[in-house]
Amino acid sequence: MVQKTLKRLPAKHKALLSGFAAFLLVILLLPTETAKASKTSQILDLGVRYDVPLQIATSQDIAEYLEEDSPQWTSFVVKKGDNLAKIFKRAGLSPQQTYRVSKAGKDAEKLLTMRPGEQLELLIDDNKQLNSLRYTLTSTQTLQIDRTDKNTFKTAIDTKQLDTRYSYAQGEITSNFWNAAVKANLSQNHIMALAGIFGWDIDFALELREGDTFNVVYEEHFNQGEFIENGKIVAAEFINQGEIFTAILHEDGNYYTPEGRSMRKSFLRAPVNFSHISSSFKKRRFHPVQKRWKAHRGVDYAAKRGTPVMAAGDGKVIRATYDKYNGHHVFIQHGEKYVTKYLHFTKRAVKKGQSVKQGETIGYVGATGLASGPHLHYEFLVNGVHRNPRTVSLPKARPIAKKDADIFAQIAEKRMQQLNNTKRIMLAMNR
Ligand SMILES: [Zn+2]
Repeated sequence: MVQKTLKRLPAKHKALLSGFAAFLLVILLLPTETAKASKTSQILDLGVRYDVPLQIATSQDIAEYLEEDSPQWTSFVVKKGDNLAKIFKRAGLSPQQTYRVSKAGKDAEKLLTMRPGEQLELLIDDNKQLNSLRYTLTSTQTLQIDRTDKNTFKTAIDTKQLDTRYSYAQGEITSNFWNAAVKANLSQNHIMALAGIFGWDIDFALELREGDTFNVVYEEHFNQGEFIENGKIVAAEFINQGEIFTAILHEDGNYYTPEGRSMRKSFLRAPVNFSHISSSFKKRRFHPVQKRWKAHRGVDYAAKRGTPVMAAGDGKVIRATYDKYNGHHVFIQHGEKYVTKYLHFTKRAVKKGQSVKQGETIGYVGATGLASGPHLHYEFLVNGVHRNPRTVSLPKARPIAKKDADIFAQIAEKRMQQLNNTKRIMLAMNR
């Protein structure tokens, strides 16, 4: 807290404060018992204590000094229903100043879309004239508007230069993925990103098991040594029930296996996001999914009512209706061969004949029709025959474009080294 305040002070104030601190130290170190020194004497005797004729500044003096020529930045938090005019009015600024600031240029238009909770910092002089305005756009960009000599305003965007460092996380699943990932210090965004990267290979809702492990290398962005934000996951490995999946980020923003096959595939493993699935695999052990699948030719995802259900792949809605057995349900045709079926919605989000993209919300989990509780019943058909979506072999992923193959091979080699290094480091740490 104190350090933060100090950081914001101009250098000369810092010097003053540290001077004051040093002076206090001198005062404290001076013994109470002092010897009298001759005022005229220039020579000081060894071992004799002398009074030091110094005036002690009180902390109030310091505060006044700081206030005198410290810039008067004032923060205004954007409230619900706020706009620039309202905030300027609260700050005691005239409508003319609002107008001139809003017309300061293209970048000033960003002030028209301020959201509640954001902050506006204003520097106002004694004549109630705005000198400067600062508005944080992103973690690295700040809009600054300054008054010019001619009493107009000019805008500038202040961009922090970022250095990228690499960090790593590694975890083992004991109860569920979320807990293991949190324990491994992964951020919420990285947890969701990791599940997304492997979402075509692993059913995070039903297929994770105790002992599954993950290993992640991700970027961290710094500005002059100060941590600013997390960056992307650049490499990740997930071992699910003994099977190893590895993903490397390419320059195109997509993930590929180290051999250069896209992680992205025609079908998602699970049409619901794992974070909505309430029970952990420990509870599900009493309901062997394989047996259940044989009994009713589908996979059940127990989830909270209203949980969004995604289209497992790109396709066309061939049925979207209600009946007393299936409740609200949606069928999607994917190319010639595949059909996916989704039953018991509380509400449908698509219409018959509509084209849908993979991951698009097509309805919401419910318990309509013959259902004992809220869950998604999911079926996967190949050439009209029900197949277990968890075990059926699906179309192979596309390889990386030929022109990218060489550069990707270099990236992959480097990333695999990073992944293996993190494993070694973690092993050493856990020893
Ligand atoms: Zn079912």
